[in-house]
Amino acid sequence: TTMKSNEIISQTEQYGANNYHPLPIVISEAEGVWVKDPEGNTYMDMLSAYSAVNQGHRHPKIIEALTAQANRVTLTSRAFHNDQLAPFYKKVSELTGKDMVLPMNTGAEAVETAVKAVRRWAYDKKGVSENKAEIIACEGNFHGRTMTAVSLSSESGGKRSYGPVLPGIKLIPYGDIDALKKAITPNTAGFLLEPIQGEAGIVIPPEGFLKEAYEVCKNENVLFVADEIQSGLARSGKMFACDWEGVKPDMYILGKALGGGVMPISCVAANEDILGVLTPGSHGSTFGGNPLASAVAIASLDVIEEEKLAGRSLQLGHYFKEKLKKIDNPMIKEVRGKGLFVGVELHEHARPYCEKLKEEGLLCKETHENVIRFAPPLVIKEKDLEWAIEKITSVLSK
Ligand code: PLP
Repeated sequence: TTMKSNEIISQTEQYGANNYHPLPIVISEAEGVWVKDPEGNTYMDMLSAYSAVNQGHRHPKIIEALTAQANRVTLTSRAFHNDQLAPFYKKVSELTGKDMVLPMNTGAEAVETAVKAVRRWAYDKKGVSENKAEIIACEGNFHGRTMTAVSLSSESGGKRSYGPVLPGIKLIPYGDIDALKKAITPNTAGFLLEPIQGEAGIVIPPEGFLKEAYEVCKNENVLFVADEIQSGLARSGKMFACDWEGVKPDMYILGKALGGGVMPISCVAANEDILGVLTPGSHGSTFGGNPLASAVAIASLDVIEEEKLAGRSLQLGHYFKEKLKKIDNPMIKEVRGKGLFVGVELHEHARPYCEKLKEEGLLCKETHENVIRFAPPLVIKEKDLEWAIEKITSVLSK
């Protein structure tokens, strides 16, 4: 394109529905942790497309899998088998330790899938009477933008004028074990949570909560469902954020980095006693499990494992947080996070700081008004992280 950034932005605003509030920057090229605008300015990406680019932009191994598969076959629909889906299933099964995998495309679709499977499990296996199943979710959650995800949300902004919302949902304060115990009834099918809340501002539950909540669910025959779409796949310094407390959820919901920043790929993984309730014709997706996505997902997971991105995130994240904590400014309320999944909560609005950081060549985005999220691609080199720390320190220092 020969258009300048400001022209691209005004055309975007002219024709596009107004459902985002992006920083005024156009990205037209990217590699690893670096992106470029049409004018040739370089920026570091410290958002990683909400953790969908954990492997870095255009990781060569993932692009190779993409192009090789694109030259063979891209879409068959599930009316026929394709030769890439089985190895993708096997890979996810080995990674999660679960018997069965159900592939979808976006994160929100995988959440939909999880809710459907959990409800059906409640009727078919737990013996809940038809239409009575309840799902418990957490205040402050973000599970996506479909009607189910919106129905789960405690945020009025994402819900306004979209009703009526889905019934059968109960919310508890995030991290409140007593509230969980009280909310469970004989009709409770599942407890759905993010083991670290991303969009809420990198909110970490009290230590021990995941483990205790898992045990409560187990005792009550309630499925513990972990939405690891943002927190999983090495982002938090472990393969899954649930690993921080040694919890193996009954069901994993994965997305984002499963597609290596190349295409939307999501899935649900659980054992046969749960996902086995789905029968032919009861759920599906034209693109879910397509051979192109399957090949890309295998490569995306291979990169996470081969490059030990979880360990990298853990080690660099520790260092990064220590440096951020040294910034002396009373305007900073808290620095928190696990691995390279870091939130800096301010006593004031975060947006102006994100704009200043952009001027310094560093891209990040505010979440929840007053939190700056720092989540660079996990392949970031030490010297690049040093560079970022210098910029952040100078912008955030008083
Ligand atoms: N669940 C979590 C925890 C997320 O962070 C997100 C996206 O930010 C979603 C679900 C929705 O994923 P998608 O935007 O791919 O539908």
